[in-house]
Amino acid sequence: MIVILKENPDLKQLESFKSWVTEKGISIHESQGTTERILGLVGDTTQIDIDLISALDIVADVRRIQEPYKNANRKFHPNDSIIDVNGVKIGGGNMTLIAGPCSVESREQVCEIAEAVKKSGATLLRGGAFKPRTSPYSFQGLRAEGIEFLLEAKKATGLPIVTEIMDISQLDCFTDVDVIQIGARNMQNFELLRQIGRTNKPILLKRGLSATYEELLMSAEYIMAEGNNQVILCERGIRTFETYTRNTMDVAAVPALKKLSHLPVIVDPSHSGGRYDLVEPLSLAATAAGCDGLIIEVHNDPEHALCDGPQSLRPEAFDALAKKVSRVHAAVNA
Ligand code: PEP
Ligand code: MN
Repeated sequence: MIVILKENPDLKQLESFKSWVTEKGISIHESQGTTERILGLVGDTTQIDIDLISALDIVADVRRIQEPYKNANRKFHPNDSIIDVNGVKIGGGNMTLIAGPCSVESREQVCEIAEAVKKSGATLLRGGAFKPRTSPYSFQGLRAEGIEFLLEAKKATGLPIVTEIMDISQLDCFTDVDVIQIGARNMQNFELLRQIGRTNKPILLKRGLSATYEELLMSAEYIMAEGNNQVILCERGIRTFETYTRNTMDVAAVPALKKLSHLPVIVDPSHSGGRYDLVEPLSLAATAAGCDGLIIEVHNDPEHALCDGPQSLRPEAFDALAKKVSRVHAAVNA
């Protein structure tokens, strides 16, 4: 971190700032330019609040050299992290397809979809049981019963399951869940992140609706700082001025996050586009950009889906998509 001091700084304030910094185990390298005096802070500056320093009377400007996240940072972990979900490996060159309904609606629905997506090459089953809905009057999910149905589908197909937790009080229902999803709306629920950081389950962390890459990585850092390093990042579209699509898929997030972090990056083209006809082209674009996997909503009767029918693929469309994704993945990795 570089701290540029104002001209003629108050010496008492300067001394007290310096001792505050050194007490944190950080060393200071001073240099005197022609007009500016500069302090180089060397050490673990992740614990230092940059806004606090820039507000000091003696400080003209502060710049971070090192990112504020450490565990998620590729600089300290150059190799790709590979997350093992019951034998399914996510990251490190593997291309993972996660598919299933937006919401679990019945035992029959989720089991039928699970069988179909497995045949097409999906290796994980998704399905929401606790649903974050914009309206309190919309279907809120089958909750604990939904997880029971997912577990039945897991038993029948062998597919590990991914489902969202909205509050830590629900954790007891997640004992046999393989991957816990943190939805976009909870990306900055720091207390929840801390708590799931104390579990030993892989976490699928979705990017918030208007979160920067750094904010997403800081949320991953919350989980990892508690000891759980099994985090999968997910780009799911961000809010922009465009209204035709539900969100705007940020394809640059894939190479950028993979450059900044060693964590696997997957893409959700369903919530990005919000329309079934956009799911395949968005999936191919994300695959070409180098994502480690896709999470896709598939429904056997989209017209009657209780949630997100317009963006859900029928099993046949998912099958066609899976074949194309595998060709694009092979082409870009040839
Ligand atoms: C979901 O995956 O069902 C979901 C609600 O996604 P998001 O949190 O990205 O909106
Ligand atoms: Mn959905």
